[in-house]
Amino acid sequence: MSSTEMKTVSCPSCNYENNVTVYKTINGSTDGKAIKEKMLSGELFRFKCQNCGHEAMLNYPVLYNDMDKKFMVFYIPEIDRTSAVDEKLEKEFAYEGLNDITRRLAGSFNEFKEKVHIFDSGFDDCAMEIAKVALYDVVSKRTGDTVKGGYFSKYSEKDGTIGFTFFVGEENQIYVQTTRVAIYKKSAEIAAQFKEDTGRKFVLINSDWARNVLYIYKKKNES
Ligand SMILES: [Zn+2]
Repeated sequence: MSSTEMKTVSCPSCNYENNVTVYKTINGSTDGKAIKEKMLSGELFRFKCQNCGHEAMLNYPVLYNDMDKKFMVFYIPEIDRTSAVDEKLEKEFAYEGLNDITRRLAGSFNEFKEKVHIFDSGFDDCAMEIAKVALYDVVSKRTGDTVKGGYFSKYSEKDGTIGFTFFVGEENQIYVQTTRVAIYKKSAEIAAQFKEDTGRKFVLINSDWARNVLYIYKKKNES
């Protein structure tokens, strides 16, 4: 079951104090599709002032969990590699006895959505991050521009391909690049060598993590 709480949010435009329902947890296996769709579309985080109609996005931590697929993604806006997760929060969501659950942190809404999409599609996110980072160079060469970021966006079982959507250059132009599932499988072999036994901890697996892993992997294979 999902859990919610009431919060007071002052409107950034008129300062009116709005009572808003915010989600603390969303359960993918019991809550039904409607809430999940609203979560992924961002509608769940949309704020509209009851006084002046001003609209904004509310960024607050939310935990998505799916006990059927055995994963949790904890969205904590602006979290970075160095910041520790609040111990209280971690305890609150430790779900004693559940040890074989993949627990991830996400620091941005796009990362959060991507994690859910990856696990829903039955993929390993560590391998996916490595495959994505390996494609940064390909996309950079093809476009002659800097790749700013990207996310897993599609999977075709029939064609044996996975696709990523990248943001390129100053204007964050969208560039879609597909690759063979074989690349993902190779990435999974590399990822397996670097998986930490994280137990019940929430960990941040993102492009920085993958770059670091690839760097160490290449060094090891040079010597
Ligand atoms: Zn207002």
